Amino acid sequence: MSILERARAEIRAMQPYASARLEASGGTVMLNANELGWAPEGEFSEGCNRYPAPQPVELVQALAEVYQVRPEQLLVGRGSDEAIDLLLRAFCRAGEDAIIINPPTFGMYAIAARVQDAAVIEVPLAEDFTPDAAAILAAWTPAVKLVFVCGPNNPTGKRIDPAVIVQLAEGLRDKAMLVVDEAYMEFAAGSSSASALLERHDHVAVLRTLSKAWGLAGARIGCLLADATVIDLLRRIMAPYPLPVPSIRAAMEALSAGARPLARQRVGIVLQQRQRLVEALAGWPGVREILPSDANFIAVRLDDPGETYRRLLAAGIVVRDIRKYPRLGDALRISIGTPEENDRLLAVLRAWLGEEGQA
Ligand SMILES: *Cc1c(COP(=O)(O)O)cnc(C)c1O
Repeated sequence: MSILERARAEIRAMQPYASARLEASGGTVMLNANELGWAPEGEFSEGCNRYPAPQPVELVQALAEVYQVRPEQLLVGRGSDEAIDLLLRAFCRAGEDAIIINPPTFGMYAIAARVQDAAVIEVPLAEDFTPDAAAILAAWTPAVKLVFVCGPNNPTGKRIDPAVIVQLAEGLRDKAMLVVDEAYMEFAAGSSSASALLERHDHVAVLRTLSKAWGLAGARIGCLLADATVIDLLRRIMAPYPLPVPSIRAAMEALSAGARPLARQRVGIVLQQRQRLVEALAGWPGVREILPSDANFIAVRLDDPGETYRRLLAAGIVVRDIRKYPRLGDALRISIGTPEENDRLLAVLRAWLGEEGQA
């Protein structure tokens, strides 16, 4: 059975919008898309008078190489948020179907589900903050079309054991898409992507993004890695020209061979700085626990998270208050900044928490 049989029948039957850019290419005088013949003056406008390619070939190739899949197994869109939304709309019938998520986790899965009027079944993370495969499989019902797991998880930071992913992939065959969100994968040294499962499982999909390790959150470039049939299905409902020309350019620059060493180096700095913050904060009065993190942030349990948040804010430092998440009622999430930003963070925290504990 193809996993497409679990998708919405009306989407499978749909013909995609035939955009001008798709219908004809290769000309040198382009008079088919009602564009203006000139771009505005200005550094960022070059080429912006033309609609972009729906899936720019060179960008798809560069991303496929980085993520080690074939180009037809990759969809690039406006951040992985767009891929999450497309999956919900392609697979879940409003008012009938459902998704499974594992709280505490990233909020966008549930938001995309609510927009589509799909039910959200919550299977809490296990004690160690990793997905409970047996509980997820037990919670599956025929209404469940998508199962989202996130590793390293936001906001807790822990990676998922590859054996758990395999167990879920086996257990969900012909039942639901298993969507593995790997937004923070680059910060989990030695980990391996679930994309290796794509060859044998048409119901496994992986989310990747340039927003975190590649430093391009503002460009809004994210990917779905999946079976070519799933990619083809989602393209039918995707906006005709999802990627702005300047974003395509920024992504091509970042992914170029010349720029990659710098990107790797920066991930290395983040890992060092993560270790530095963990070692600096451990044992301070008021710091209850630092959750082990494989991501570019740490979740910190505190005696007084509200006051800590306010003191940081008063010093101009904004961290994420994650107390509303289950089991994190005493925690703040702190992104790992530049060494100078982390100096400032530690100075403020030391003044508030550290002094009495320091000799
Ligand atoms: C930041 C983040 C993303 C990335 O979203 P984009 O839309 O690609 O910027 C995806 N998943 C998780 C869990 C995240 O924390």
